[in-house]
Amino acid sequence: IINPIERPQVTQELSENVVLTTVDDLYNWARLSSLWPLLYGTACCFIEFAALIGSRFDFDRFGLVPRSSPRQADLLITAGTITMKYAPVLVRLYEQMPEPKYVIAMGACTITGGMFSMDSTTAVRGVDKLIPVDVYIPGCPPRPEAIIDAIIKLRKKISNDSLQERGNLQQTHRYYTRSHQ
Ligand code: SF4
Repeated sequence: IINPIERPQVTQELSENVVLTTVDDLYNWARLSSLWPLLYGTACCFIEFAALIGSRFDFDRFGLVPRSSPRQADLLITAGTITMKYAPVLVRLYEQMPEPKYVIAMGACTITGGMFSMDSTTAVRGVDKLIPVDVYIPGCPPRPEAIIDAIIKLRKKISNDSLQERGNLQQTHRYYTRSHQ
């Protein structure tokens, strides 16, 4: 028999964290099961992304529903070369997406500038200089299976997200995108 007087007390800090952890699990499960990518592409990598939308790869099974408006999307897959002229548009699209939002950098061009990285003065040499990136997919072009692999990795990342940490991260993202414009 446990004497109620001797029962260990749950500290306020512990009880708050238990509630937050449970909410995190529910919130993360809902988000990772319904990622909505923006229909977005700037060069040949988008052809592979478009193939993913077809019935052969059936990416709807992950709950992914492509959206034409950034205001309805929470996933940006940067498929293709980013030019200097186009960079402000990309940042604008990213900022128009509601939080929490994620970015997958797809292909050599978007990650490093690719074949334009040596002597081009018009290609951005790394999309992560403009917006924060969660997962990188190397290749030229990466195949649809590689995009599926990146989505599985992103889902794992989301499942470990914490609402509190995400809030702090959003502050950093806002600072990041503004200071890189
Ligand atoms: Fe095209 Fe290759 Fe660049 Fe993708 S990485 S945009 S396929 S040149």
